[in-house]
Amino acid sequence: MAVYGGEGFMAEGAAALSEPQTSQARRVMQAGAATPGALVEAGGDARVNLLGLARAELEGFCAQLGSRPFRARQLMSWIYKRGCDRFADMSDLARAFRAELAERATIAVPRILATQRAADGTCKWLLAGGADQAFEMVYIPEPDRGTLCISSQVGCALDCAFCSTAQQGFNRNLSTAEIVGQVWLAHRELGGGERDGGVRPVSNVVLMGMGEPLANYRNVLPALRIFLDDLGFDLSRRRVTLSTSGLVPQIYRLAQDINVALAVSLHAPDDALRSELVPINRLHPIAELLCACWHYIDEQNGRSVTFEYVMLEGVNDSPAQARALARLLAGHPAKVNLIPFNPFAGTRFRRSSEQAIARFRDELIRGGVIATVRRTRGEDIDAACGQLVGRVRDRTVVRLGSKMAAATRRRTAAHGAVRASAPGGTAPRSSGA
Ligand code: SAH
Repeated sequence: MAVYGGEGFMAEGAAALSEPQTSQARRVMQAGAATPGALVEAGGDARVNLLGLARAELEGFCAQLGSRPFRARQLMSWIYKRGCDRFADMSDLARAFRAELAERATIAVPRILATQRAADGTCKWLLAGGADQAFEMVYIPEPDRGTLCISSQVGCALDCAFCSTAQQGFNRNLSTAEIVGQVWLAHRELGGGERDGGVRPVSNVVLMGMGEPLANYRNVLPALRIFLDDLGFDLSRRRVTLSTSGLVPQIYRLAQDINVALAVSLHAPDDALRSELVPINRLHPIAELLCACWHYIDEQNGRSVTFEYVMLEGVNDSPAQARALARLLAGHPAKVNLIPFNPFAGTRFRRSSEQAIARFRDELIRGGVIATVRRTRGEDIDAACGQLVGRVRDRTVVRLGSKMAAATRRRTAAHGAVRASAPGGTAPRSSGA
């Protein structure tokens, strides 16, 4: 466990937290918070990390310290609106309360290990994840918005064939504090907030960095709530996007729990190909996934689901595949975002040509589906989609792809039926890549 130097200390922080936080959970209960939000351990002593605590948890914590619940509002305003991490600076709180907070609590965010700026203004940070782990976040400035792409896990277990995070394997879930801490840090690093005349550099947050957010549901949901909370980052629900590879049960859960924009990594118009590219498809095939998506939109009164589709030369980019995709989605609340493949060392895939991408988009539009092409940003610093690798040590969990393949083989043997093809067999049709 990391050792903390005092309030406001940029602790390796929140970072050292890992699941399942059982002893930590006990401490936060003792400290008055309703559920285990985020705790920081310092040697034998433990202080509650206020970053990432839900409003009600923070109220409980204040009550525990003998303070009135509205103090929680003041604290949230200092933490999220003013980006303050030093209790001593919270001038409208009583001195004695500040002193007690300093003893019992902290505001700890992940430590920045490295910062890289791309020629196009995109900025990537490598953040400490404890025990020599690291994860990444990326800021993408545009004329009308500033998008922060954040991570939800150190590594990823889902083993999508074309994603470099997958090559890293999986280590652990990020805590709520580490997820929320990324937005907090970006605001601090980029300037903004009340300190800078109210301009907030991060107007949009996308969970499209390292990891599968719905596989870390327990920590991601409270973070989403803080993004939307008007005492938190106060982002509009349309400006917070969760991207998933298709964990169907969790999409149903999300529909009940919160209203944010949903993006789904589809990447193929049929189950055989999708099972190779996105192994979770063997568990939740396309028809099941689409049902969950339409349910999500119904429940949320939402506009549409964005389907991400990575353009892989000779694999999923033919006009016939575009027409098949259009048949799946036309008439439904769906948009397609085509992502030119971003290559990384050792990959067997190649990016589709610009003409192939344009043809695919036009075919979708002809088929009645809204389609756009994602502009690739920050390529010179490996900050584009699927290029975030962080540093993943101790890959404690077997990759899902290999687990799923074994399960599929067992099922196939048992039923004598061939349902999905073997992993790793996606050979580009047109090239020797
Ligand atoms: N686990 C989440 C978030 C992943 S990253 C998910 O699967 O949706 C966000 C998007 O980038 C996903 O659509 C992902 O499939 C895509 N992606 C991954 N690797 C890529 C690569 N090398 N090039 C382009 N897009 C990639």
